[in-house]
Amino acid sequence: MARALGSLPQLREALARGELSYSKVRALTRVATPETEERLLAVGRARTAEHVELIVRGWRRMDRKAEAQETTRRHRNRALHVYPDGDGMVVIRGRLEPEVGAVVMQALTAAREALSRRRRAEDVPAGTSVVDGSAEAPTMEQQQADALALVAEAALHRGMDPGAPGERYQVVVHVDAQMLADADAPGQSVLDGGARVPAGTSRRLACDASRVVMRHDADGRITEVGARTRTIPPALRRALQHRDKGCRFPGCGRLLGQGHHIRHWAHGGPTTLSNLTMLCRRHHRAVHEEGFQLERLADDELCFRGPDGRLLSDVPPPAAMPANPVDSLRAQNDAGGLHIDARTSTPGWHGERLDVGYAISVLHPLAVASR
Ligand SMILES: [Zn+2]
Ligand SMILES: [Zn+2]
Repeated sequence: MARALGSLPQLREALARGELSYSKVRALTRVATPETEERLLAVGRARTAEHVELIVRGWRRMDRKAEAQETTRRHRNRALHVYPDGDGMVVIRGRLEPEVGAVVMQALTAAREALSRRRRAEDVPAGTSVVDGSAEAPTMEQQQADALALVAEAALHRGMDPGAPGERYQVVVHVDAQMLADADAPGQSVLDGGARVPAGTSRRLACDASRVVMRHDADGRITEVGARTRTIPPALRRALQHRDKGCRFPGCGRLLGQGHHIRHWAHGGPTTLSNLTMLCRRHHRAVHEEGFQLERLADDELCFRGPDGRLLSDVPPPAAMPANPVDSLRAQNDAGGLHIDARTSTPGWHGERLDVGYAISVLHPLAVASR
């Protein structure tokens, strides 16, 4: 909520002045944007916390509906036109959904790379003169056209078999072994598409994943491929799930989690219950990429620390309380120029019935636009 309020000055000020309660502001920040802030602030002022909650829920339904419509529209608009043009060439034009487009682009890139490897292997030896212009490097557009032909041939050759679901779309990270163990070690950490990722990300992806070990010789050629193995075997994962019951990050407890090696296996950490803990996706990232630290103490308790080394406990210590909290709060408000009385946060509502459907139809920008 604090982050959302950073871009919502009107709601932030209304909260600071005591005009809107914390629960109203928290509800409104779930949907408010700088464009809709003003009208939602008016809702907060005019309505009770319960009404605000109902309107925000209706607003989110509208958002989801709009998103679903957008997805449906895209799905409906998928198309591929293939037709011969006047001079006997074939023209291809189409619109694909983003995830389908990603697969197509991945396939074209792979085919282009395979073709360029093939071309380099057949390269004319140095010293021979080339008279025929065909030895010129093809343009990107020409390469794409050749790649599409290779994709089609390969698809027909494989009998249109896309393979097992688990192997179809996977993120492949290439990372050198010494880099997994030490972020500062030289080496590469790249996604299959060539995008570089930070060492912390590849360590997280490798922490609880299927592992395929490939050995390369000095020239980078693959000499050996090991069997695909789960880093954490199923029986151990069940024991881990049974012991931890969910994310162990202080205050989290989310049920779905990933196995985290407290000492990474690339550092020689064993895959044993005592070296494993469950972390949800969010907190697995916190530990690998955001500088949070975690160790298991001698008494088997886990100890989490923030990036600044501060100890994180399950229940934070109570805030320091002045001897006379009411007087000191009044003094603080007076000093801040705040005048809070019994009616400051009273809504302008006069008791009329709330019609959520009508409220959304006049408030939500998408509903307003479609009226
Ligand atoms: Zn991990
Ligand atoms: Zn968590």
